[in-house]
Amino acid sequence: MQIPGFDFQPRTRFVFGAGSVDRVGELAHASGARHVLLVTDAGIVAAGHAAHVQRSLAAAHLRATTFDRARENPTTRCVDDCVAVAKAAGIDTIVGLGGGSSMDTAKGCNFILTNGGRMQDYWGVGKATKPMLPFLAIPTTAGTGSECQSAALIADEQTHQKMACLDPKCIARIAILDPTLTLSQPPRVTADTGIDAIAHAVETAVTTKRTPLSLMYSGEAFKLCVRAFPEVVLNPNDLEARARMLLGASFAGMAIENSMLGAAHAAANPLTAHYGIVHGEAVGLMLPHVIRFNAEDAATRAAYAELARAADVAGVGDDHEHALELLLARLENVLNLASLPRVLVDCGVDPEAIPTLAEEAGRQWTASFNPRALTRDHFANLYRAAFEPRGNEAPVSTRARRRETHSH
Ligand SMILES: [Zn+2]
Repeated sequence: MQIPGFDFQPRTRFVFGAGSVDRVGELAHASGARHVLLVTDAGIVAAGHAAHVQRSLAAAHLRATTFDRARENPTTRCVDDCVAVAKAAGIDTIVGLGGGSSMDTAKGCNFILTNGGRMQDYWGVGKATKPMLPFLAIPTTAGTGSECQSAALIADEQTHQKMACLDPKCIARIAILDPTLTLSQPPRVTADTGIDAIAHAVETAVTTKRTPLSLMYSGEAFKLCVRAFPEVVLNPNDLEARARMLLGASFAGMAIENSMLGAAHAAANPLTAHYGIVHGEAVGLMLPHVIRFNAEDAATRAAYAELARAADVAGVGDDHEHALELLLARLENVLNLASLPRVLVDCGVDPEAIPTLAEEAGRQWTASFNPRALTRDHFANLYRAAFEPRGNEAPVSTRARRRETHSH
């Protein structure tokens, strides 16, 4: 295979390890901070993590103002509320603490605070002209990889259209990866975000934008996450497994930053927009169908096989077809373990909605990086396939839904 050209500039410093959150004050101070805006949500405050960060900032003699109203799938209104708090306080540095929603809110706030206007102005790539404030990201979930991505995902308050606002200026200067913070994730969040991280590793490994460098991150991310996932689900207090999961999710984030995503994410977004299906669940539902579709292409099948071998899911002696089946079997295994719904009927999706969903999936930006080009009919077929049990899903009783509030 010819090696494609690439341009890789690492922009985010990684500070990894149990207890590393204690360094946030020192690190913010070294970035020139005097007054920090802490962007987080109520669940993280209740878990005691916000107080932890506030103590570290105070110890470094930094002023801190907290915005604790980040919401799942943050909207333009959530960002506007955050900007109002930031402006009133006169902050000079932003710390995001939480899941992807806190990170997106923090980044969205940074766009408006430094460049003015409204979120819609930055929908697309590189629309900001002025430099942004230093941003430090502290994830409390192992999933989105948002801590190493130069994108803010903000939904339009009116239309619920999710806008991807990409700009290298909004990326975190420092990602503090402290696995102890992820111990407080409720089981449902561990499962949903973990599946999302695994899907990131798989999708990035085959995109049209993949490079040898992004593949390195995809392979490592998949290896770390696919092994650690069963451990964190079955033994949530296993700090070592949590650490591997967090690192794997960040590596998957690095892979996305360098190779984008594919059709499972494109197909998942309309399901979240119309039916409120949690992102990781929607992606997990669509992923096996997208893999089977993509693997009809020989080069993509080889890329999946390569990923399976890199993670020791398949051996060097397995041919592409067998390696692909082993990859799918392993994914079925983790999806069943995650107790996710495996067919769309279980999520209240109306089959009549398929044409609308397919239309919207085709318009998703990530669809353009999928290794096989997809028409609306292709997406419709993928959704139809997701209505039919394949027989390898766990029985309903073992995937009884454990609905818990997603505060982070
Ligand atoms: Zn995702």
